[in-house]
Amino acid sequence: LASNENPLGTSLKALAALSTILQTLELYPDGSGYRLKQAIAAKLGLHSSQITLGNGSSDVLDMIARAYLDEKRSVVFSQYAFAVYRITSSLVGANLRIAKANPPEHPTMPYGHNVASLLAQIDADTRVVFIANPNNPTGTWLGKQELYAFLQQVPRDILVVIDEAYTEYVQQADFPNALEWLEEFPNLVVTRTFSKIYGLAGLRVGYAVSQPAVADMLNRVRQAFNVNTLALAAAEAALDDDEFLQHSVATNAACLQQWFSACADYNWDYMPTVGNFITVDCKCPAAPLYDTLLREGIIVRPIGGYRLPHHLRITIGTEAQNSRCIEALNKVLSA
Ligand SMILES: *Cc1c(COP(=O)(O)O)cnc(C)c1O
Repeated sequence: LASNENPLGTSLKALAALSTILQTLELYPDGSGYRLKQAIAAKLGLHSSQITLGNGSSDVLDMIARAYLDEKRSVVFSQYAFAVYRITSSLVGANLRIAKANPPEHPTMPYGHNVASLLAQIDADTRVVFIANPNNPTGTWLGKQELYAFLQQVPRDILVVIDEAYTEYVQQADFPNALEWLEEFPNLVVTRTFSKIYGLAGLRVGYAVSQPAVADMLNRVRQAFNVNTLALAAAEAALDDDEFLQHSVATNAACLQQWFSACADYNWDYMPTVGNFITVDCKCPAAPLYDTLLREGIIVRPIGGYRLPHHLRITIGTEAQNSRCIEALNKVLSA
């Protein structure tokens, strides 16, 4: 329960596509990812020239940093934002400008991205702003109006990257689909992944959607065969499996309730969440709790690296997985 993978496994359609493609492994993959890009474009109602494929969406985030950032540029993201933004921006020497998140006592979105502080961090050298919506590890999100107002205020020569790794899980009314704004904001990049709800984390495939001009820039730094044959085939088939997606969304929503009641029992606070994980405040150092669970064969994610040493991020598992984790916690917490 540590990496927000889909506990239901992988779409059977994807597995079937994999068994067929095994006969062609002596060949290089299609470096242009033609079929997968066509399939994504058809699914999202876009043109394939707007899509850039990555070896996971982390690869796309890395391409963005390499194409748009260097020692003379700055990048803006929030405190508690997904760690890849910091890592990849640091590797190209960019100046990190980190916006303060909402305080823990914020009434609706504690630890969430704060639009005003993100805007305040933008300076003359800024070329990229990274926003995860919802964010990992907090689970927090920006609503439609808030995010739209933010985009309106960012100068158009600054790329705004909205990372929608968990968007398929979200059922919240008022949650934005940033793809709708691509026409209006030529500086907008939306990233998505097959690692989470599609259950293909092991194959590594994700993508960016942008204006063709931005895709062209990203493709200049993209490695020629960055997405492998198996990943291309499985992702294309998985896109077509709405039933698997719907079942995954429904299971996640139902099993999240187990964690809400466990938190109530333990008197734990938790961060608002619309994804497939919940970040809980154990109200004590989380590392020993993590260790104890590990000894029970259960892996959750301590997030001390984000300077949240009392929190654990827990992936919503199947009902049986959650029950086992909750039973282990009951034992530890009552001892
Ligand atoms: C998991 C995750 C990703 C996906 O990473 P991949 O490289 O596609 O596996 C991207 N962004 C966020 C915020 C994530 O949590």
